[in-house]
Amino acid sequence: MLNIILFGPPGAGKGTQSEGLLNKYGLKHISTGDLLRAERKSGTTLGLEADKFISAGDLVPDSVVIGMVENFMTANHDSEGFIFDGFPRTIPQAEALDILLEKHNTKIHVVLGLEVDEDELVKRLLLRGESSGRADDKDESTIRNRFQEYENKTLPIKSYYSKLDKYVVVQGIGEIQEIFSQLCSHVDECLK
Ligand code: ADP
Repeated sequence: MLNIILFGPPGAGKGTQSEGLLNKYGLKHISTGDLLRAERKSGTTLGLEADKFISAGDLVPDSVVIGMVENFMTANHDSEGFIFDGFPRTIPQAEALDILLEKHNTKIHVVLGLEVDEDELVKRLLLRGESSGRADDKDESTIRNRFQEYENKTLPIKSYYSKLDKYVVVQGIGEIQEIFSQLCSHVDECLK
């Protein structure tokens, strides 16, 4: 199995780059943001509860997202591997992921950290909000709150995986194709 975490702040390009990586390496995509939005669309209790956090730009409680990821992995246990996009977003989520992967006799191979400065991110998210209709992309104060959540709760994950020697930095500004090549070169290193 090959398991990759695509890491970075909101708007860094994780969704865009995941698509290319999935196709190239034959992996399954786990985007907790997509899973949560699907729950909301179906009107499940979980979806409606999560919506309160998402609309405010806050993180959804760990237990909710960890449960979703666990279900997804169990349902796709015969996959060649996974790309985790938007998960883990807190240290407890990262620890839970390690345990889950161990249960499946595997591990995280590499964490690809897309780095983009905040002004560029705000521009991208406001632009995305115009076409996607995502409420959490439309309002600048909600976007700023998401960055605050990212800095406080998500960024510590960078040192968690750096200590394990799994974190690599990729500049997330430039041509999509060029960024993709950079990401692939790091993935290919894991396959050697
Ligand atoms: P982006 O990376 O552009 O912010 P996502 O679609 O990944 O967008 O996430 C949208 C929202 O869903 C987040 O702001 C958060 O409220 C919630 N969410 C997604 N993944 C997680 C997670 N792993 N833990 C907690 N909340 C999450």
